[in-house]
Amino acid sequence: MKWSDIYAQTDGPLISCEFFPPKTDKGEQNLWRCLNDLKAIKPAYVSVTYGAGGSTQDRTQRIVTRIKDETGLSPIAHLTCVGSTQQQLRALLDAYRAAGIENILALRGDPPEGMSRFEVVQGGFAHATDLIDFIRAQNGFCIGCATYPEGHPESPNGVADDIRYLKMKQDLGAEYAITQYFFDNERYFRFLDQAEKQGVHIPVIPGIMPITNFDQIERFSAMCGATIPDWLRNRMQPIRGDLDEVKRLGIEIATRQCQQLLDAGVAGLHFYTLNKAEATIAIVNALTR
Ligand SMILES: Cc1cc2nc3c(=O)[nH]c(=O)nc-3n(C[C@H](O)[C@H](O)[C@H](O)COP(=O)(O)OP(=O)(O)OC[C@H]3O[C@@H](n4cnc5c(N)ncnc54)[C@H](O)[C@@H]3O)c2cc1C
Repeated sequence: MKWSDIYAQTDGPLISCEFFPPKTDKGEQNLWRCLNDLKAIKPAYVSVTYGAGGSTQDRTQRIVTRIKDETGLSPIAHLTCVGSTQQQLRALLDAYRAAGIENILALRGDPPEGMSRFEVVQGGFAHATDLIDFIRAQNGFCIGCATYPEGHPESPNGVADDIRYLKMKQDLGAEYAITQYFFDNERYFRFLDQAEKQGVHIPVIPGIMPITNFDQIERFSAMCGATIPDWLRNRMQPIRGDLDEVKRLGIEIATRQCQQLLDAGVAGLHFYTLNKAEATIAIVNALTR
């Protein structure tokens, strides 16, 4: 089912979960187990990220198709501009259409491992805006996009640029946006307010990162520009070596964050699961909707 139909037909906020395509058979078995466990919280849809090259990209297509055919969950396929010509992108979209996949999250993408910056391939696209325009012209897909309440690390004018490009993504055909994760809801609320003033009216769904390993979150946050507030660092710092305690506190913090977002009337909560079900299930079960 298209994201737009799911949104129209769902009462209350959409709970969704994001996964990455594993590289090994063991990782893949874990993913299917995780998807199965997450059915308990009835996600409105699940999304699968798109890697930076060759076989990871094939895995996204295979996993998204299996989710649709075998799990009863509604999948969204992430798609990026990295390493692909328009011809290759068209072929992939044709394959998705033939397989009945109707939802694409259109992104520029991160540079492949070992490369410090994104490079446009000849005959490819430089920005998510170009990809959105291209997908819309292929007809039949409901398109989502990414956005950054704290500003994308490459945006010279910070949040102002991201709002401008979010508006452009909307005008080109994106029907919703999912944010980079953040820990300070005030930044998201401010972003939303400014975006609305600039004419953004599509749902901007907050991305939620439950912390289960603080070292990992510090690494991710340094790369993607998400701020770790002092209060959060101060609470995690003394227990960072004890993963059970980190998980317990991570669930407590994310539950409080999500409840405040729900109370403010957000359109949904998108969980970055990192292919683990436990924290997301605990958080969703603790929420009052
Ligand atoms: C919800 C979500 C899911 C993600 N999934 C994946 C994934 O599956 N695979 C993956 O590789 N990465 C993924 N990412 C990471 C994402 O690819 C990176 O953040 C990437 O660096 C930017 O992607 P984008 O689509 O936001 O790019 P863009 O919107 O193109 O933005 C990239 C930079 O270019 C600028 N810009 C945007 N449009 C224009 C324009 N028209 N002209 C000039 N400048 C412009 C922006 O200000 C920004 O600094 C995801 C991120 C999020 C938030």
